Amino acid sequence: MPSPAQPLRGSGSAGPSQEPPRGEATAGSLGAPVPRGSGSAGPSQEPPRGEATAGSLGVNLLDFDLEGLAAFCAGLGEKRFRAVQLYRWMHQKGEHDFGRMTDLAQSLRRKLAGVAEVRGLPVLSEHRSADGTIKWLFDVGNGNAVETVFIPETDRGTLCVSSQAGCAVGCRFCSTGHQGFSRNLATGEIVAQLWFAEHLLRRERRLAPGERAIDNVVMMGMGEPLQNYAALVPALRTMLDDHGYGLSRRRVTVSTSGVVPMIDRLRGDCPVALAVSLHAPDDALRDGLVPINRKYPIAELLDACQRYLEAAPRDFITFEYCMLDGVNDSDAQADALLQLVRGRVPCKFNLIPFNPFPASGLRRSSAARVAAFAARLQDGGIVTTVRRTRGDDIDAACGQLAGEVQDRTNAAQRLAQRRVAIPVRPAPSGSGAAA
Ligand code: SAH
Ligand code: SF4
Repeated sequence: MPSPAQPLRGSGSAGPSQEPPRGEATAGSLGAPVPRGSGSAGPSQEPPRGEATAGSLGVNLLDFDLEGLAAFCAGLGEKRFRAVQLYRWMHQKGEHDFGRMTDLAQSLRRKLAGVAEVRGLPVLSEHRSADGTIKWLFDVGNGNAVETVFIPETDRGTLCVSSQAGCAVGCRFCSTGHQGFSRNLATGEIVAQLWFAEHLLRRERRLAPGERAIDNVVMMGMGEPLQNYAALVPALRTMLDDHGYGLSRRRVTVSTSGVVPMIDRLRGDCPVALAVSLHAPDDALRDGLVPINRKYPIAELLDACQRYLEAAPRDFITFEYCMLDGVNDSDAQADALLQLVRGRVPCKFNLIPFNPFPASGLRRSSAARVAAFAARLQDGGIVTTVRRTRGDDIDAACGQLAGEVQDRTNAAQRLAQRRVAIPVRPAPSGSGAAA
């Protein structure tokens, strides 16, 4: 069984159990007044979704969006406005202790204490980069860990959130994919990442009430969010809710490898900004890099993107494109991308320099190649950005999130077999690409 507390490179600051989300959290609670690991269900079961599990203290109220909480409170004989109060205490004030929710009726506080709790995730480690990026590793039980990254910007802060322990898609260039899939996170485990980071940062920065530290959430951590749809949507709703985190729909981004039917459902259920991980201009190459392409090929994916834009809060799709030396970074491939999307899907491209890891057998495109590729797309009329690498000293770039998970799918083995099948052009000499 892999240890979740693997050593992480970089300038580790607070140790795993040194920085509870509330200064006054009780020993061992880490903001989650339950034993470590109790937030997860057994090995092959679905995570708890609003139900008490053996060993836990009760329903995790972070599992609910406001409607869900109102229904839960109705079951306790409480009116909706009580649910709103409770929800605001949890998400706007970061409170987990019912005893401190002072304007909540004593009778409700007593009822809640018996059946429910506000259960955060135990923090295994925290690493702070010289550039201000912070990476947390959270324990999700059974030897699994997920990562969350805060990326400060001058005028705002972005949180990169995980949706699964591992990932079943198994993209060739992704270290999470190489680890295989362990389980879906519950809504409360997705929300807990924002709950923890937001309130920790507010306290550290002594922000005034109502001021927020995070105004941008990207579902670009570990996992494929659209393969954990049932838990994702209530989590998104809590991020957006004015009684929750009040984030703009334009500033909550779901990133997907292309789960076409779920893109359509998201459009109806909870349209937020959409990023699609494209990575290749044709099916032959994308089949090898992003295996879900065999099920939902590029033409179907682009059609789904077009439909999504009918309801999306932004009028473009962001295509992510991981720059792999000699694989997908030639001028001809840039031209093929232009052919593919121009006049079809209003879009921007975000080129991501590949974060190499040994098992991938792939190299990062040189900076000059990335710049030339970007210029070609830009000249072709597509707004193109190159993602700045942040938190390099702590391995905190999105896509490099590799909290250990138990591989219940033998993805590593499958990927090793597939490696030989992907054509990689020999590196031009002196390309300067990272090994
Ligand atoms: N599963 C979703 C979201 C998580 S991955 C998705 O695939 O979109 C977030 C982004 O990081 C994706 O665009 C993914 O392709 C990219 N990524 C994964 N591994 C990477 C790596 N090693 N280097 C650079 N980007 C990577
Ligand atoms: Fe999963 Fe996204 Fe990684 Fe692909 S890139 S394996 S979909 S997390």
